[in-house]
Amino acid sequence: MPTTRNQDKDKINREVADVILKTKEPPVARFRLLSGGMEPYHRLDIKDENSVITGDKGCLACGNCIDSCPVLRKYPERFQLTEQRTSFALEACVGEDCEQCYSCILACPQVDTAYKDYIVDEVAPETIQPAPRITSLDSYFMAIIALVMGIMIGVFIAR
Ligand code: SF4
Ligand code: SF4
Repeated sequence: MPTTRNQDKDKINREVADVILKTKEPPVARFRLLSGGMEPYHRLDIKDENSVITGDKGCLACGNCIDSCPVLRKYPERFQLTEQRTSFALEACVGEDCEQCYSCILACPQVDTAYKDYIVDEVAPETIQPAPRITSLDSYFMAIIALVMGIMIGVFIAR
């Protein structure tokens, strides 16, 4: 469903996006800042009627990026570094161990869908390698088959 903001992925800042994506650090905060911020149709309960948050690019502390990170799945003890569930906490807990999977970007409600489309459609297919073919295993079985065949032929000739 289209949003009120232009979400055309051809108009995103690819040059900056590519630099961020190639850096081995949690990228979600910088993609949040590249994005347009809070949409005008948000459902946050703001008590101050004069407060306008449309366009605000701040972290909502929703924790979606934390929950989606494979590094923190592998090393849950890192959660002990902080009780926060923000992009800052993600950076503190993951740092340069980031595996550049981009899950945090895709999970963040404050990142424009145009950037998510770009990552899913154009970046991921180039960076995520297909499952390696088990050529070494194939060779291993071929060697056994060749040995068995050789023995059988040898026995046949010897008779
Ligand atoms: S979710 Fe992926 S890209 Fe984001 S910090 Fe974790 S490993 Fe890095
Ligand atoms: S997913 Fe939530 S916690 Fe993470 S950067 Fe986005 S708004 Fe902040």
